[in-house]
Amino acid sequence: MARYRGPACRLCRREAQKLFLKGDRCYSEKCSVDRRSYPPGQHGQGRARFSDYGVQLREKQKVKRMYGMIEKQFSATVKKASRMRGRAGDNLLMLLERRLDNVVFRLGFATSRNEARQLLKHGHFRVNGRKATIPSSLVKPGMKIEVREKSKDIARIMGALDALDLESLPAWLEVDKGLFEGMVKALPSREDITHPIDEQLIVELYSRY
Ligand code: SF4
Repeated sequence: MARYRGPACRLCRREAQKLFLKGDRCYSEKCSVDRRSYPPGQHGQGRARFSDYGVQLREKQKVKRMYGMIEKQFSATVKKASRMRGRAGDNLLMLLERRLDNVVFRLGFATSRNEARQLLKHGHFRVNGRKATIPSSLVKPGMKIEVREKSKDIARIMGALDALDLESLPAWLEVDKGLFEGMVKALPSREDITHPIDEQLIVELYSRY
């Protein structure tokens, strides 16, 4: 699947907030949003005015970029969320959170979703005992995600797990750092997503088409 290969920090600057796309760097003083808090490009320091459509578009772009998705994947997820029971916005966030690459990141096996996606594609994880390489697959309660035996000495995985603050682990997940494995305890709920997101704007945007 095609994906964005340009500079990650440019995406954060475009959205004027940290999207945490580059792991450790995002928490350091090198973060581009902290150093240059204006949008990229020649007119980045000009005054930005957004229409209703522009506000909705920016919110969609922000969330799509946070989860490292391309438009086709993201719009398919919004459509799926709209067909499910309940509020489409809540459903959308739940579907995004349940992606395997996001879960690997949340469990602390990677420092960013991009890194989690790469590690998954390289076959370093098992789900319920079977090799898992599809970042977009959705997890369910009861699933066990573990680092493959031969991948446990990979410095990136060890470093990410070392840095994991267990206090920040969402309530629907649990991890055993020593065993390099995590468990999905329940489905995520809206309260588990602490990043500022107005999902209703995204639903409204797609209802225009
Ligand atoms: Fe975004 Fe991280 Fe780059 Fe900061 S360092 S601009 S949070 S990707």
